[in-house]
Amino acid sequence: MEVTVECHQCGSSLPVEATDTSLQINCGRCKQAFLLGFSDALRADEKVDQCPVCAGGDFYIRKDFDPKVGVSVIVIAALISAGFYYYGQDLVAYGVLGGVALIDLAVYSRLKDLTVCYRCHAEFRGKFEHTADPFDLHTADELEPEYERQVGKR
Ligand SMILES: [Zn+2]
Ligand SMILES: [Zn+2]
Repeated sequence: MEVTVECHQCGSSLPVEATDTSLQINCGRCKQAFLLGFSDALRADEKVDQCPVCAGGDFYIRKDFDPKVGVSVIVIAALISAGFYYYGQDLVAYGVLGGVALIDLAVYSRLKDLTVCYRCHAEFRGKFEHTADPFDLHTADELEPEYERQVGKR
């Protein structure tokens, strides 16, 4: 299983493989140290039962996609279709937009699931079954400050 630790100091993403019971890593940018403790289930790529960063047990599920890619595809398509529209090719312009909407949909439905820790935002990728519930703002509002206090951000 691959775990992406989010550095609470500078926001960097730190990918690590869950192979050992415990592992110390340092943030590549700000040198913040993290002591990670992986549970047996994490190392066996079975399920996410305990967060190796903050020891929390509350997770949510989301689609694994890069928002920047999605946005740039839409921007490019809008520019192309604006070009066709300008030259009076209305139908082509709408066709381009419709085609991109379909591509977006196809890409989205093929995205893999990703499990995320409510408290420290660590991300979990692997072959295990993602059983967490979708994101809940109320839960995040309660759990995020807990972690921030723990690491001395509040
Ligand atoms: Zn950092
Ligand atoms: Zn966590």
